[in-house]
Amino acid sequence: MQPILANELCKDLGSFSDNPQITGVITDSREAAPGTLFVCIKGERVDGHDFALAALQKGAAGILCQHDVEGVPQEKRILVKDPLDAMIQMGANYREHFSPLLLGVTGSVGKTTTKEFCYAVCSAFGSTLKTEGNQNNEIGVPKTLFRLDSTIRYGVVEMGMQALGEIEKLTLAVRPAGGIITWVGQSHLESLGTRENILKAKMEICDGMPDGAPLVINADNDLLSVAKVPQRLRRVTFAVHTDADVRAVGIQGDEKGTHFTICDKEFGSFPAFIPAMGEHNVADALSAYALATRLGLDPERAAQALANYSTTGHRQNVVQHCGVTVIEDCYNASPDSMKAALRTLADYPVCGRRIAVLGDMFELGEISQQAHESVGVMAAQAGVDWLLTVGEAAQDISRRASQLGVNAVHCSDKAEVLARLLSQVKAGDALLVKASHGMALETILEGFYKQF
Ligand code: ATP
Ligand code: MG
Repeated sequence: MQPILANELCKDLGSFSDNPQITGVITDSREAAPGTLFVCIKGERVDGHDFALAALQKGAAGILCQHDVEGVPQEKRILVKDPLDAMIQMGANYREHFSPLLLGVTGSVGKTTTKEFCYAVCSAFGSTLKTEGNQNNEIGVPKTLFRLDSTIRYGVVEMGMQALGEIEKLTLAVRPAGGIITWVGQSHLESLGTRENILKAKMEICDGMPDGAPLVINADNDLLSVAKVPQRLRRVTFAVHTDADVRAVGIQGDEKGTHFTICDKEFGSFPAFIPAMGEHNVADALSAYALATRLGLDPERAAQALANYSTTGHRQNVVQHCGVTVIEDCYNASPDSMKAALRTLADYPVCGRRIAVLGDMFELGEISQQAHESVGVMAAQAGVDWLLTVGEAAQDISRRASQLGVNAVHCSDKAEVLARLLSQVKAGDALLVKASHGMALETILEGFYKQF
């Protein structure tokens, strides 16, 4: 963060009589130091207000809080109605001081992957900031903005949501020069009720974009392909399966990644390679190319730069271990990403068997059973030779797949999954491991890598 006067940072929130220079905004009192502004956030387990005094004692220059805290002098604090809204407001105030080209990314699935593709492209053209990890909420987005400085030319900001109105707040702070909506699926159906509401929530990204800005949407998605884009914006489509402004053709995977040709109705055709498997990654790469080029970056170089992509976390990472191809995908799961992962497993060139370890997908509400059964159908369609499931909801995956002839075993816990894998997996097999983050299937992988 570049130093900024507290009262500029806190514009529209309040002011400090000493107006100190702020060099960092923090939500964890352990990071408190002279120059920091501590925001008291009430979490599920801890209430930041309980640490306000400690932050001051460690030298914090000021406190933003919802109510007074004993020992914190009035001149050292600003009272705010909602500390999360205050974070976003400060992010917006800070962002005003800089003029980077910001790319906004939202969607039901593929946001982080797409963000990384955008980063790969933009960083080939100049210094680029990106959301760290998956910090895409009311705390993470302002924290990303606070990392802006005058040397940064491009920035890629991932925006997530749990409810209507959240993306709107974020995009108004980010003010992206253009945006991507990766997909409208079923994540957060529990809180939003219908897919139409999910679309509405994602379309809020438009609210922070200037007139004429490109909104890049996936034409392969039933709702996005017919979504009404505000007339003041520029609608740009990408697709792997249907006609679109930017398409991928000749998709060919090998053990290192995927080759394809980008067919761009505006700029022509360009060869591209991504070090990642599966059509869903091609789609994410296409959208990054489409947005970067509509923001003025050179198409040929943008297409080439997709090769610089690297994956993060356990988000579909392909690892070779003692002759077994492991598709690590424990980061999260939804019906759309399960489908994409199973398709990747199906397309992967293997000499042995295709083995899938699948666990529960969370937050699906009423459609949970149906969604898990549909994954069972996909496993059958993908030609999975051996399916191991774990978790309560995943029983429906196993039952449905086995009705369709898949050799499927539902395991009582992860230890049973590991024991079965260790006794049966052979060199030459391909192994996909995927579930929602909360299932922590990476522990199976850790055991497998140690013992196989
Ligand atoms: P979150 O909501 O947790 O932030 P996200 O939208 O950022 O998720 P990613 O982390 O990029 O999504 O990917 C989540 C999972 O979806 C991974 O398994 C990834 O391989 C898969 N995935 C990525 N892109 C797509 C896509 N376009 N369609 C379907 N699945 C995808
Ligand atoms: Mg993400």
